[in-house]
Amino acid sequence: MVKAVFAGSCPNCGGPISSTRLELGLPCSSCLPDIEEVEAKKLSSLPPEDRFKEISRRIPVEKEGSYSVLAELHEELSRFERFFVKCVGKRLWSLQKTWAYRMLSGDSFAITAPTGVGKTTLLLVYSIYEASEGTRVLVLVPTETLLRQSLERLKAYSSVAKGNVRVLGYMSKATKKEREEALAKINGGDFDILVITTSFLSRHFEILKNKVFGLIVVDDADSLLKDSANVDRILVLSGFKENDISAAMKLIKLRNELYFLKLANRNSDRVEQLEKELEELEVIIAKARGEGSRGQLLIASATGRQSGIRPKLFKEFLGFEIGGIHAYMRNVIDSFELCTDKGEMRKKLLEVVKALGGGGIVFVSKDEGTLEAKEITSYLTAHGIKAELAIAGKKSIEKMRKGEVDILVDFCRYSHIFQSEIFI
Ligand SMILES: [Zn+2]
Repeated sequence: MVKAVFAGSCPNCGGPISSTRLELGLPCSSCLPDIEEVEAKKLSSLPPEDRFKEISRRIPVEKEGSYSVLAELHEELSRFERFFVKCVGKRLWSLQKTWAYRMLSGDSFAITAPTGVGKTTLLLVYSIYEASEGTRVLVLVPTETLLRQSLERLKAYSSVAKGNVRVLGYMSKATKKEREEALAKINGGDFDILVITTSFLSRHFEILKNKVFGLIVVDDADSLLKDSANVDRILVLSGFKENDISAAMKLIKLRNELYFLKLANRNSDRVEQLEKELEELEVIIAKARGEGSRGQLLIASATGRQSGIRPKLFKEFLGFEIGGIHAYMRNVIDSFELCTDKGEMRKKLLEVVKALGGGGIVFVSKDEGTLEAKEITSYLTAHGIKAELAIAGKKSIEKMRKGEVDILVDFCRYSHIFQSEIFI
């Protein structure tokens, strides 16, 4: 029975769709006609990659829409995952997978997460992956030591990539001859991935400024933003013009002025004038955003701090803010399940663990004691989950980082070993 029909909500064609179809994650009956209830439920229970593939295969060519895009994206994610395993020797964990999905969909965004969750590894593997597909990549790091480490890792990963990915780095501590050679190669565009420090970006912008990068990776936003002019430089290297950047800067300032004028409820002439100017500037920016192909920008930040108004330019042109990712990181759903006995509770737990994948912690009430935590751990292990009791403290967290353990089991306590260690 159809409960309700929503206009403009079919995920595939944007047409009307029944609530029943929406609940099952299926497209509308015009995109996917004649489907039995049992069949529909079966489709709906498949894991996302198989579901999108199967549904897009059934949608007639003339109705092809978002499902085929999603199917392709999930296929690409599987390809990327296989590549990641070859490079790093372990699988993506759930948070890395979420980021990888956004990266592969071409989004520019900031990754705000504490050190040690695998941001850098993911960004470096993605850089090689993209470069092997023909994208020119710029990697920015805060220090010379990190530059050397990144170069070593990129070179190791590049042996896995198809074709020959040329990785070039500029080290200010190298010999004069080596430095000159590197500068000549940068000048001649003789590289696929260029790794530089943020201070190189400030000092040698002249030789970079006529180059456009399809992907820019900033490993440490805090060091980049120490010099606010770096924001402009990054945007130029992503393909935006200097006069458009100035226009966006003006827009941000005028918008602030307008906000305060409206707040103070005065000076209506100036308000009118500002609104008109803003409208014109918005047209310029919208045009700049839509013109030509723009590079993808990925910024990693441990703190999510941004100061001053210049970083707001990222929002105007690429639609993200460095500190604006917290809501996404805190995507927590509080939910509960009422169970009549321990057997049922364990079965339910296993289902949840399987659905959410690795990188989780199971907390057992302290009243239940060590025995219960141990039993849960052996129950999960017996069902093929790499679970471990978290009594070993930091060692078990390290194991989880390395991917040797998927689930940790521990008690709820006030002061917790996890608090300062990991954030999931
Ligand atoms: Zn539809």
